[in-house]
Amino acid sequence: MSLQNANLYAILSQGFAADRGAVAIHTPTRDYSWDDLEHTSARIAHLLTDLALQPGARVAVQVEKSPEALMLYLACLRAGYVYLPLNTAYTAAELAYFLKDAEPELVVLDPARVEAMQATLKEAQIAHVLTLDAQGQGSVMEQSASKSQQFTTVQSQADDLAAILYTSGTTGRSKGAMLSHENLSSNAIVLKEFWGWQSDDVLLHMLPIFHVHGLFVASHGALLAGARMIWLPRLDIEQALKYLPQSTVMMGVPTYYVRLLNEPRFTRETCASMRLFISGSAPLLLDTFQQFTERTGHTILERYGMSETVMLTSNPYLSDQGPRVGGTVGVPLPDVEVRIMNDEGEILSQLEQIGHVQVRGPNVFAEYWRMPEKTREEFTGDGWFRTGDMGKWTDVGATQPYLSIVGRGKDLIISGGFNVYPKELELLIDTFEGVNESAVIGVPHKDFGEAVVAVVVPHEGVTLDVAALQALLKSNMANYKQPKQIHIVESLPRNTMGKVQKNVLREQYA
Ligand code: AMP
Repeated sequence: MSLQNANLYAILSQGFAADRGAVAIHTPTRDYSWDDLEHTSARIAHLLTDLALQPGARVAVQVEKSPEALMLYLACLRAGYVYLPLNTAYTAAELAYFLKDAEPELVVLDPARVEAMQATLKEAQIAHVLTLDAQGQGSVMEQSASKSQQFTTVQSQADDLAAILYTSGTTGRSKGAMLSHENLSSNAIVLKEFWGWQSDDVLLHMLPIFHVHGLFVASHGALLAGARMIWLPRLDIEQALKYLPQSTVMMGVPTYYVRLLNEPRFTRETCASMRLFISGSAPLLLDTFQQFTERTGHTILERYGMSETVMLTSNPYLSDQGPRVGGTVGVPLPDVEVRIMNDEGEILSQLEQIGHVQVRGPNVFAEYWRMPEKTREEFTGDGWFRTGDMGKWTDVGATQPYLSIVGRGKDLIISGGFNVYPKELELLIDTFEGVNESAVIGVPHKDFGEAVVAVVVPHEGVTLDVAALQALLKSNMANYKQPKQIHIVESLPRNTMGKVQKNVLREQYA
C-alpha cells in the first residue's frame, strides 16, 4: 500500500472495490455504490471548502446514523478538516459544553434540533450551521448537490489531525482525544491483516457512528477491504435476523450478543454465512461467550481499545496464532506495545499480577484538546499512555500470554456499551435541594452489562423528593446515563483516608 499521501481518505480509498458500480453500502431502502461514496464525499468536500473554513477547522456533527453522515466524515478527511462526532443522545446543555470547548466553525445537526439549539449556537459563535436527518436529507445534501463530483483529496502529513473524540473524564470535564491521520490509518491497516478482511466480506454494521467502534473500527475495516456494508441505524433483532444470513462479519458491544441470544430464532442457521463475530467496548461476560459458541458454533473474538488509541489488543483470528479465550482481550496488535505497571512504576512481567495498563504505538493519540495538564498526567515520562484500565497477563497455552482487563481504575460505568462517568452524575445530583452527597456506581446488569445506580445522602431531617430529582436528571442527561435505581441512605461507607468505598456500595447493591 502506497503511503505517499498520508490523508486517511487517500489510504482508505486505495482499498475501494475495483468495480465502482458495485454496492458499497446497502440499507433497507437504498443501495450506494463505491462511485456514490466517492462522488458524494467530493461534493460535500467542495461545500466545506467553499465555506472557506480555516485549515484545521473543527466540524462538529450530531446527527442520526445514515450513509450520508459517513460521507460527511469522509468529506472532512478529504478537505483536511477535523471531524468531531457527538453522541446523538446529548442534551442541549451537554452540547453547549462541546461547542464552547472545541470551537467548531461548522456544526451539522438534525434539522429537528436546530430550533432548540439556536441560543446555544449563537452563544458559541458558530459561523456555519448545516443539517442532515436520519434519511440523509438536509442542507448538507441540498447545498452540495450542484458541486463537482471530482475533488482532489488534500495532501496530509501523518500527524495532521483527522478527528477529535470526546471521552468524558472522571473529573466531570470531557476530554477531546485528538486523533491524527496516521493514528487511524495505521490501525486500519493492521486490523485489515489481523482480522483477515477480504473484498467479498459483508459487514453487518449496526453500531452508532459517533464512537470509535462504529466509525473507525467497523467502517474503516470494510472501506479499506472494499467490502460491502449492510447499514442499519441500530441493533434491531428483526433486521439482524434478516441480514445476518447475508453477512460475513459482525461487530457489536456485548449487549448486542446478549440480545441476540435472548432470541430463540437466532440459531446456527442464522449464522451459516458468517466468518467472524467481534465484541468490544466493554467486557463480554464469560457466560455470553460460552452460550454463543453453544448456540452458533462460532467463537466470539474479543478485542480491547479506546477512543484515545483505537484498537490495542485482540484475540487471534487464525487458530494457528492461538485460541480465542473468553474473559481475555488477547495479544497486542502488531506495532502496538502493552505493559503492566505497579503503583511504584515498575513493570509487572509475571503472569496474573494486576497493574495499570500502559500502551505505546503509532495508533496512540498525541494529546487532549486544549488540556496540556491532562495530557502530561496521562503520559509517562518515557512516552507511554496510561489507559486507566487495570489488567494482567494470563497464560492460555498460546505462544504468548493474553491480556485480561480486570477493572477500570477510574470507576467508569459502561452501560449498553456507552460510558457513564459517575462524577458527572454526582455533581448534578449534589446540586439538588436537600442533597448532602452522592455516589454513583455500576452494578452488573444482564442486558446492559452494567446498570447505573445512584446512592444519595440527604441532609439530616430532609425527606428528598425523588421524583423531582429524577426529573432534574432526565432534563440534563442523556437517557443511557439515567440511574436505574436511586437509593436514599444516611451515610456513605468510607475508608480511613476518607475516600468513599465504591466497591462496598457495588457489593451492597449488586
Ligand atoms: P471508549 O473510549 O468509549 O472506547 O472506552 C474505552 C474503555 O472501554 C477502555 O478503557 C476499557 O475500560 C473499556 N473496554 C473496551 N473494550 C473492552 C473489553 N474488551 N473489555 C473490557 N473493557 C473494555
